[in-house]
Amino acid sequence: MSRDLSHKLHILDHPLAAHKMSILRDAQTPSHRFRQTLHELSWLLAFPAFEMLQLASVEITTPLETMTAQTLSDPAPCIVSILRAGNGLADGFSQICPEASLGHLGLYRDHDTLQPVSYYSSLPDQMDKRQVILVDPMLATGGSATMAIETLRNMGVADIVFACLVAAPEGVAALHGAHPDVPIVTAALDRELNDQAYILPGLGDAGDRIYGTG
Ligand code: URA
Repeated sequence: MSRDLSHKLHILDHPLAAHKMSILRDAQTPSHRFRQTLHELSWLLAFPAFEMLQLASVEITTPLETMTAQTLSDPAPCIVSILRAGNGLADGFSQICPEASLGHLGLYRDHDTLQPVSYYSSLPDQMDKRQVILVDPMLATGGSATMAIETLRNMGVADIVFACLVAAPEGVAALHGAHPDVPIVTAALDRELNDQAYILPGLGDAGDRIYGTG
């Protein structure tokens, strides 16, 4: 990584992020406004999430002279969305970094065991050479994120950042316990999980809020 964020938890600290989080948390916020606000917030979250991106030097010529400039290294980073709620963050991330490839991992949480189950995987080639920004709005037990990171590690991915909207202390501890080298970037660190593994105070089921289901 170009910057050492190891073992770090980065909590977004910005008035606009706090304002948008209030809109997302409010149970009265309709789905269309939730989606729009999540999209806006994803741009703010992208800045710390992409901070570790590696750069390569290139010679370019401005209208006035030649200089050494910095561009994204090749192959481009990959944004990996944990379906389905991850797409709410991945859309904004890929707008701010259109060079990035997009991958998807389908994981659902078994209602009885609360354990993640994998049902889908679609990732670009050369994953072992790409930096990965893994996104899922809610870091609850950390089970899905841990499983997704294991999948990526098995493909040889070395550099991974996990970005979410809301993290529970239990999820942060679990993820850092399993993968201490993966930095976590979040818009909020909440109090705790309830016995259904929902984050308190949280914002409810992120997928249902984004897609108007549930
Ligand atoms: N997933 C969600 O969508 N919300 C939670 O609070 C926890 C997990």
